[in-house]
Amino acid sequence: MTTSLDTEHLNSSATVDLFKRYVIGNYNRYPVNLVRGEGSLVWDSEGNRYLDFFPGWGCNLIGHCPPQVVRAVQEQVATLIHVPNTWHMDVQGQWAQMLSERSFGGQAFFCNSGAEANEAAIKLARLHAKGGRYKIITFTGGFHGRTLGALTATAQPKYHEGLGPLVAGFQYAPFGDLEAAKKLIDDETCAIMVEPIQGEGGVRIPPAGFLQGLRKLCDENGLLLIFDEVQTGCGRTGHWFAYQHFGVEPDVMTLAKALCGGIAGGAMLTKPQIAPSLRPGMHAATFGGNPIAARAGIATLEAIEQDGLLDNAKDLGDLFRRRFMALKDQCDVVREVRVAGVMIGIELAVEGAGVVKECLARKLLVNCTNATVIRLLPAMNLSQEQAEEGCEILADVIRKLPRA
Ligand SMILES: *Cc1c(COP(=O)(O)O)cnc(C)c1O
Repeated sequence: MTTSLDTEHLNSSATVDLFKRYVIGNYNRYPVNLVRGEGSLVWDSEGNRYLDFFPGWGCNLIGHCPPQVVRAVQEQVATLIHVPNTWHMDVQGQWAQMLSERSFGGQAFFCNSGAEANEAAIKLARLHAKGGRYKIITFTGGFHGRTLGALTATAQPKYHEGLGPLVAGFQYAPFGDLEAAKKLIDDETCAIMVEPIQGEGGVRIPPAGFLQGLRKLCDENGLLLIFDEVQTGCGRTGHWFAYQHFGVEPDVMTLAKALCGGIAGGAMLTKPQIAPSLRPGMHAATFGGNPIAARAGIATLEAIEQDGLLDNAKDLGDLFRRRFMALKDQCDVVREVRVAGVMIGIELAVEGAGVVKECLARKLLVNCTNATVIRLLPAMNLSQEQAEEGCEILADVIRKLPRA
């Protein structure tokens, strides 16, 4: 697939110069100008091909430019781009129905990002609580977004530096520590918010019984249980939603990242008996649930179903687990391997930044989070051959690390 655009791109170094002059430097960026993607492959302006094990920071769950999403968006963009939420849109209603039927039968509020979805959940929890209760318990190592509410919910001091005073009413317990969470509950608490599997925190899977215990605490104390599935949701773990692995249903669930197959979109779902607390006028997002996001969201769910990608995610997870457990046996720099479908964390005994850089030099894109965890969020439709090819490179890079 060659388009006229291919010849018109700036090269990588000219692009870096533009950024230095005109784009705020709040991200650490690799000096590479990406110009085209297809499935799990992406190309830069020099024509280099990369195998992408971290497509779109988890947003491109079914690969770059999935054909079903491309078609749906192309059709929609020529029909109706945007109308406000003062009107009904059949596509938004149908999208909400599809999400509801694949989760816990709730109703949806649509927005554009994960942080926004979590802000909606925080507001809903406060609005729903009786008697002025407002405190929300969250967990260390969690990540909920960068707006001030979601940021305060994010119990990681490094993200708070210089930004105080933060929003009142958030309390932190160690992830996995049920007793600590229980001790924080008082008569001002309204909710507990948690990622069922922590993403940024290093692909941390909670200890057995933790989420069940939180459910029980919420039931006993009249609190809402909010699951942030922005990273784990929409099929990533081999179930539609990560909570379905644990047999624990939340009262509120937030989604974004992969929700629209790479198009910006977010959602908060909640049970029908809670939803009315978000009364007319109490919350809004101008672009939320717009027709393009809705069509992309529907196409993403349909593609996952039609192509059998939930099973594929499970199979890929098994492949990655096998591959890196074998590496762990040979190589003591690998501390732990944590896998849930196409959400993979390889915890090293050393910092992982060098691994990312060396993989990039070998044209494999991976991520490092929490300093020592190599995180992979590959597409659910990554082929077996691509998986093997990338694992080979990554294993080789890790094997050549200085011994712990
Ligand atoms: C990425 C992420 C967010 C924030 O999403 P944005 O779209 O960047 O606002 C929130 N929660 C979790 C679990 C995430 O992984």
